[in-house]
Amino acid sequence: MLTRPLLVVGIHQEEREFGEQVARRLRSGQIDVLCIPEGIPQNKRPGEASFYHRLRHREIYLQLRQQVLRRYGLILDLHAGINETGRCADVYCRDVSLLSRLDDLELSELRTVHITAENRLTPPALEKASVHRGHITHAVAHTIIPEEVWNSRDFLYVGLEVYVTQAGEGTQDDWFFTCTLVDLILRCGDGEITEASRDEVNRALEGAQKNSQVD
Ligand SMILES: [Zn+2]
Repeated sequence: MLTRPLLVVGIHQEEREFGEQVARRLRSGQIDVLCIPEGIPQNKRPGEASFYHRLRHREIYLQLRQQVLRRYGLILDLHAGINETGRCADVYCRDVSLLSRLDDLELSELRTVHITAENRLTPPALEKASVHRGHITHAVAHTIIPEEVWNSRDFLYVGLEVYVTQAGEGTQDDWFFTCTLVDLILRCGDGEITEASRDEVNRALEGAQKNSQVD
């Protein structure tokens, strides 16, 4: 399997500016970036049947799949949401070993989410999310992203949803926080994370937290 990673920003049009700001701050050469110029709306339009909302998701993700196939081994799909009580993030993936490596870091700002198919029984071990020192692990989610994407044999799909306190393009600290997570996910994908990394990552994330309190 190819391991070359790609960061995708702007699948949801409202989140593109945030993603572009993050993309500008990533270490050069670390990851390729694909910015979707015309993403789809984040939410269902008022009165719209959820069928159409799902269909639009299906179409845009299948297009993305065509573009990345045989070129990339890891697709990191960046999203942004709101959490008024503080910055945090969810990482969605089918690969339990990548999620477990993230879990080992015990970051309270990070929740790992195991994607499973709607029609498949959830393995008993993953039935319940567990909380350890504020870190929630292995929540289980179904997704409207097509299975050809999140369960592709050709690449590993990783969804990263960063929750910030205000809508819009985000702040310096939000971008820094997200860059740190992108770096972390890439290193977990490569199996590069060690015990020493935990302190390093915690320091980086605490730094982002502290700076934002000063603002
Ligand atoms: Zn989104």
